[in-house]
Amino acid sequence: MRVVVGHLYPDYLNIYADRGNIAVLTARAAWRRLELDVREIGPGEPTLAAEIDLYYVGGGQDREQALIAPDLAARGPELGEAVAGGAALLAVCGGYQLLGRFYRDRYGAELPGAGVFPLHTVAGERRMIGDVLLECELEPGERRTLAGFENHAGRTYLDEGAEPLGRVVAGFGNDGESGYEGCRAGRALGTYLHGPLLPRNPWLADWLLAQAVARRSGEPPVLDPLSDDLELKAHAVAAARARSRGGRH
Ligand code: GLN
Repeated sequence: MRVVVGHLYPDYLNIYADRGNIAVLTARAAWRRLELDVREIGPGEPTLAAEIDLYYVGGGQDREQALIAPDLAARGPELGEAVAGGAALLAVCGGYQLLGRFYRDRYGAELPGAGVFPLHTVAGERRMIGDVLLECELEPGERRTLAGFENHAGRTYLDEGAEPLGRVVAGFGNDGESGYEGCRAGRALGTYLHGPLLPRNPWLADWLLAQAVARRSGEPPVLDPLSDDLELKAHAVAAARARSRGGRH
């Protein structure tokens, strides 16, 4: 079976090894005899909404965000329809911010967003940097943790009633105050977690792959378990570091 991934702006939004998330998805798909077909989508190139099962966008500095924001905002309606139609999506940091309504940088310049997530972001003076640990429940009754690294000036505010990705156990998260991190809209996830995120959180990579398959098959399949010893060790190290050093929470 083929899973088509749309990698948005790989040449602009790719810091802290965010591209590594694509490598993890590719390997974990192959180990389940799923072929991952990655389409790179740059400025001015088609969104391919009829073909894409999973969209991915990484993080970036304000300068790179400013270079692609108008192009991404123009795709907003198409991406919103694709997600409403069952496409999965993972957006990291700068990409996550620009999938909200807008990102206002610390000089007050407002970058338009795609409006896929019910949120907006305003940069503050002090950057929120460090290891992060979250508690998530993407499937009812299945409590899991996510460990990663954050570095952002943006404070992200979810709309009333919007669903966060997880509760902050250690770290700053969306705004350093609310105690929540990220956003979830169906199969679309946004997060500040770099690292890259997926190598040390293999369960999330599998969740995204299953959601991507479900866009075509209807139901998320139960993927064959893999021996994730190394990944789980990396998770444990990152989680311990977050607990010992994480931000205010
Ligand atoms: N430039 C944005 C901020 O500083 C996003 C940074 C990032 O992607 N790490 O908040």
